[in-house]
Amino acid sequence: MKISELHKLFLASSGISTDTRKIKEKSIFFALKGENFNGNTFAKEALKLGANYAIVDEKINIENKKIISVENVLSSLQQLATYHRNYLKLPIIAITGSNGKTTTKELIHRVLSQKFNAKATVGNLNNHIGVPLTLLSFDSSTEIGIVEMGANHQKEIEKLTEIALPDYGYITNFGKAHLEGFGGVAGVIKGKSELYKHLQKHDKKIFINADDELQLELTENSNTISFSEHKKADYTIKTLSSSPTVIVESENTTIKSNLIGNYNTKNIAIAIAIGSYFEIEINRIKAAIESYLPDNNRSQIIEKNNNKIILDAYNANPTSMAAALESFKLIDANRKIVILGDMFEIGKTSKEEHQIIIDKLKEYNFDEAFVLGKDFKKTEINSDKIQAFQTFEEFKDYFKKESVKKSTILIKGSRGMKLERVLELL
Ligand code: ATP
Ligand code: MG
Repeated sequence: MKISELHKLFLASSGISTDTRKIKEKSIFFALKGENFNGNTFAKEALKLGANYAIVDEKINIENKKIISVENVLSSLQQLATYHRNYLKLPIIAITGSNGKTTTKELIHRVLSQKFNAKATVGNLNNHIGVPLTLLSFDSSTEIGIVEMGANHQKEIEKLTEIALPDYGYITNFGKAHLEGFGGVAGVIKGKSELYKHLQKHDKKIFINADDELQLELTENSNTISFSEHKKADYTIKTLSSSPTVIVESENTTIKSNLIGNYNTKNIAIAIAIGSYFEIEINRIKAAIESYLPDNNRSQIIEKNNNKIILDAYNANPTSMAAALESFKLIDANRKIVILGDMFEIGKTSKEEHQIIIDKLKEYNFDEAFVLGKDFKKTEINSDKIQAFQTFEEFKDYFKKESVKKSTILIKGSRGMKLERVLELL
């Protein structure tokens, strides 16, 4: 079936489904394959549950006009998304980077929603399936789209940009995330810069943080829109003290957010720059940013039993871990406790990177620190303020006996460490 014909069916449907446990009536079911499942085996079920059509790429043993065979379901989904994106002709902003993509995307979405019918990636659907699904969630009433793009190896961002064809792009930072798949820091820079390459090739606009030398260097002679604290830039946005508060001097406006971590000032600054670029009034930008509350274990503040808990258990890598500790160091509090979990997907330099974090803990000298996981367990500690545990269970047995009160506690680790479990112990 031609993509244009598939698109007609799509427009007449209620959207896309890929999971028979969450079928939308009158949707089109795409029988995707994963490591542990084959959507083709659910095609019949999808139709029974109310899907209009099922797109498959294996032989299905039934005659049914509602079953449409294609060469490859995933690539049909991606082509349909690109076709739909071109059909809608709306401006699209792509966001990638090692850390802070989702936070930045959420902030930009809230800011742009002050003036436009803006739609953005839902949650963290940022891969080769999530990006097409995001594009297919836009409709003729959508005025601007914000698409988060994630990657853990080379050529992934290139592929995602070819699917989404963004008009604008922003890279949050180049950090030490997914080092294993990218092949070190140089690999991360190359991989993330595929967004710049795409925008440069098509003479589209690149938003940059002009205080980041690397971003400046990589976008020399490109069509950029910049923000900076001190340098000459399109938008000057200053950071105030350690908390994520920023000042837009030209507008005489101070913007305070509910986010924690001073790294968030950059995430806020780009949202202000993009809002200003799209001519949204500063007071509306301010209202959008100040009303944003993060969720999903992403830098949440929780008050419990006389403790103040900074729960950042959604993910961790060497850059975000160092940023979180640095920011925690600057917080004003009586008693500070840090509970960290292993950082995954680092590859060869894992031992070194975990040791760097331990050394930072020693330097910052928090009242107490607990590190969990087999990688932290392998580090050299030599400090009576830091204790290592191989597993969460070991930590739990130990920690249950502690009655922690009146403390400020930072909790951070990779997703697989599920450190939100610590909450039950507090
Ligand atoms: P993922 O790769 O899981 O999609 P992401 O890039 O979308 O992650 P967020 O979910 O926004 O990132 O934030 C994850 C964590 O990264 C935050 O909780 C914080 O610790 C850290 N972080 C956020 N912004 C920055 C930044 N600008 N620089 C460094 N670290 C940051
Ligand atoms: Mg994300």
